[in-house]
Amino acid sequence: MVVTKNVVVIGDGAAGIMTANKIRYLNSEKEARVTLIGNNVKNFCRSDGPQIALRMKNFTESLKPVGFLLNNGVDFVRDEVTQVRPKNRLIYLKSGKKYDYDYLVLSLGLEDAPEKLPGFEGEAKHVLDMQHSLELGKTLENLAEGTVIVATNGASAPNLMGFYELALVYKEQLSHIKSKVQVKFTSPDKGAFPVPELSDFFAEKFRSAGIELVTDFKVTSINQKNKEIVSSDNKKINYDVLVLPPQLKTRGFLANDELLGNDGAKNISKTKLTVRDYDDIYIAGDAYDFLAEELSGSFVTQARYISHRIAADINGSFNPEQYAGSVTLSAMTGLSKGITVSYSYESRPKRPLESRADFRFKKHYSDFYFSSLLRGII
Ligand SMILES: Cc1cc2nc3c(=O)[nH]c(=O)nc-3n(C[C@H](O)[C@H](O)[C@H](O)COP(=O)(O)OP(=O)(O)OC[C@H]3O[C@@H](n4cnc5c(N)ncnc54)[C@H](O)[C@@H]3O)c2cc1C
Repeated sequence: MVVTKNVVVIGDGAAGIMTANKIRYLNSEKEARVTLIGNNVKNFCRSDGPQIALRMKNFTESLKPVGFLLNNGVDFVRDEVTQVRPKNRLIYLKSGKKYDYDYLVLSLGLEDAPEKLPGFEGEAKHVLDMQHSLELGKTLENLAEGTVIVATNGASAPNLMGFYELALVYKEQLSHIKSKVQVKFTSPDKGAFPVPELSDFFAEKFRSAGIELVTDFKVTSINQKNKEIVSSDNKKINYDVLVLPPQLKTRGFLANDELLGNDGAKNISKTKLTVRDYDDIYIAGDAYDFLAEELSGSFVTQARYISHRIAADINGSFNPEQYAGSVTLSAMTGLSKGITVSYSYESRPKRPLESRADFRFKKHYSDFYFSSLLRGII
């Protein structure tokens, strides 16, 4: 007799949707009941943020209802998780309901932590969600002269590339209209990018585009009155428009002692994507990348790895594969070219080569994202 297992995925962003869909693909409904619990109405293809801000794309192409993105046989529960009790294998929801599970995937993303950067709120712009991308677009449209600073201060790995894309594409747009707007880019690292192989590439791109690069500049506060960013060693740079990713943190309820605790990085397995000693709790997406720290990880390879592991376990087969930390990131480097960069825990990225094909891939990425990636087909 087949005992149906309960697989519960919490968090309905890219990582959760893809994981739930892929597990559904790999198991029959007799073998596994797949439930996705989330509190989002629509999924935003985050990779489109810079293009929306730069008016290269209509935002309606970058949004789809979560229900529409789920494969047949995935149960969607719109609710908010308030507590997870791993010892009892129970999940508590805001509505008062509770769910039990045989396998649990935590793909809850991160929450904003404005308290980590004084002056950020109400001042800095970014491209991590649709609303902020649209707002930045309006601000840039209304700017006739002045300085736009793009600062990367600790953006998590996959999100990071978007800020380089924004600076380079925007600067090329400005050059076509002979604008008086200056673009500066600040990096908290010694070079233009946290990884040396990419650092020289971006430094050269900035130089040839006419973007001033300021390295070793970790923004520790924003003086809204003087319109200046202040670094850890008290250097100051003035701006008219500031683009800076928000400070983020792990969702509060995951920090209890039975799950991630106060030092989540110590309580995740980088090779199995599991939490503590539990072999039935996985973590994926930005929630994982934030704790893993290295410039590695990706919701795509994580969703793929986790769903195959759970499927093998349900089918009683042995899957010795370890998570390799592989990631592939694409970005535009101007109005006609782009790059794709791949790396993993073990293999360093190579110096990227620009191509028109990478530009086109990035331009149409959301079609691929909604129709194939999130569906778990790839
Ligand atoms: C410009 C840009 C370019 C990018 N390019 C790439 C790329 O080329 N390749 C790549 O791999 N990645 C890329 N990324 C990153 C990628 O978009 C993110 O890693 C991905 O969207 C993160 O998805 P997530 O599901 O982990 O988190 P989120 O999207 O934050 O989803 C978390 C979900 O959990 C829900 N949730 C939160 N709390 C609760 C709760 N208590 N109960 C229920 N639900 C809850 C939220 O509502 C949300 O829907 C890029 C990002 C940007 C900004």
